Amino acid sequence: MIRCISPIDGAVYAERPTLSADAAHAAVALAKAAQADWAARPLEDRIALVQAGVANVGKMNDQIVPELAHQMGRPIRYGGEFGGFDERASYMAKIAKDALADIEVEDSNSFRRVMKRVPHGVVLVVAPWNYPYMTAINTVAPALIAGNTVMLKHASQTPLVGERMAQAFHAAGIPEDVFQNIFLDHQTTSDLIAARSFGFVNFTGSVGGGQAIERAAAGTFTGIGLELGGKDPGYVCDDADLVAAADTLIDGAMFNSGQCCCGIERIYVAEQHFDAFVEKAVAIVRGYKLGNPLDPDTTLGPMAHKRFADEVRAQTAEAIADGATAHINPFAEDDGGAYLTPQILTNVTHDMRVMRDESFGPVVGIMPVRDDAEAIKLMNDSRFGLTASIWTRDTARAEAIAGQIETGTVFMNRADYLDPGLCWTGCKDTGRGGGLSVIGYHNLTRPKSFHLKKV
Ligand code: NAP
Repeated sequence: MIRCISPIDGAVYAERPTLSADAAHAAVALAKAAQADWAARPLEDRIALVQAGVANVGKMNDQIVPELAHQMGRPIRYGGEFGGFDERASYMAKIAKDALADIEVEDSNSFRRVMKRVPHGVVLVVAPWNYPYMTAINTVAPALIAGNTVMLKHASQTPLVGERMAQAFHAAGIPEDVFQNIFLDHQTTSDLIAARSFGFVNFTGSVGGGQAIERAAAGTFTGIGLELGGKDPGYVCDDADLVAAADTLIDGAMFNSGQCCCGIERIYVAEQHFDAFVEKAVAIVRGYKLGNPLDPDTTLGPMAHKRFADEVRAQTAEAIADGATAHINPFAEDDGGAYLTPQILTNVTHDMRVMRDESFGPVVGIMPVRDDAEAIKLMNDSRFGLTASIWTRDTARAEAIAGQIETGTVFMNRADYLDPGLCWTGCKDTGRGGGLSVIGYHNLTRPKSFHLKKV
């Protein structure tokens, strides 16, 4: 049984039984059996069906928004995830024909030589709760469009999300065996992977979870995409627009109660602007309204679970004990549980866990830096490598810095955004995923060479 404890009040919001091992293998068999017919449909049909399924999710948005608040605490005022969900699916639909096109090397009187992209078969998508619709659609939409059948194992914190997607996609006409939402425990998930049930597994979540998936797949040669954690830095150069930098970086640190894989967790500011930047950042954070996410005035909800808030509190308390300065007095709504005061820390160092471990919560440490070289050194001093956000008016300078940063994405003058035209990827402990964009399609298919000699 999986159980979603609502962060609003600690009550059980939803419970679902997990599949037994036999039932899970039977579900895989259905997905495998359905795949050839699905892949044989014209690409245009698969695109249209996926787009209709996505539109159906949009029609449910009024129910989905409060469900998200109950399941993981995001305030209703933000209106759910349909904007990004639709943007990503629509973009992947638009590029599908070109991304999946044959690469013809020769078609002469003697030979036809061509490389085609063929689906892997059954794709397992393991999704996290923090952006439960947007993270899932990154793989679900292109995997289906490319001709795979898809099994979605969503997070225990957000069990209604996979059900909603299945409801929407099936109502659009996607056969039930082509897209299945399944509730699985970790052991059964690993056992299925080890039994080579899937042609490809895309896992989005923690480093520990990603390692478990990699171990389960060892020796099966199953393709895996791992989109794991981050400790993403922002760097405010001496020529930056300070107001825009503070607005975006602090929003990037605090939005969704800091529970964004590419949330800003460390900020480095050119020393001459340090005090002014901290002052702006503190003013922004003091203006947040922490509270019940169902209240339309709330701008900052509880963290998704008390255990996540406990970790942020521990990192913050350790940093303060080691000399960090906390700039935000406790909010009245801070209950010592899931409702947590957002925090800005200065006098931090890289010896502190809050500057090294993923916090995945509403806390950010800010340090002054002398120059680009020091900023680059500090940004790279991390075991993670998802994104970095550079603030400057000089594109050439940003590009030069970006070339030296060890991350999957480098932003200039923006942060915390997935551009579906660019590959979503990381390095180091962030894993080795490659979602969205034309490269996302390449990862969800395999190349097949046709070498035909005409006699
Ligand atoms: P998590 O605990 O690893 O869970 C993510 C998903 O993986 C859930 O569906 C979870 O199922 C499942 N899972 C975890 N361990 C598993 C195992 N051993 N076998 C099978 N399934 C397993 O991560 P989370 O706390 O939900 O999400 C937060 C983490 O995800 C953060 O580190 C964040 O940075 C990362 N993240 C990364 C990206 C990215 O694009 N790079 C995007 C979003 C989030 P249960 O819920 O049933 O345990």
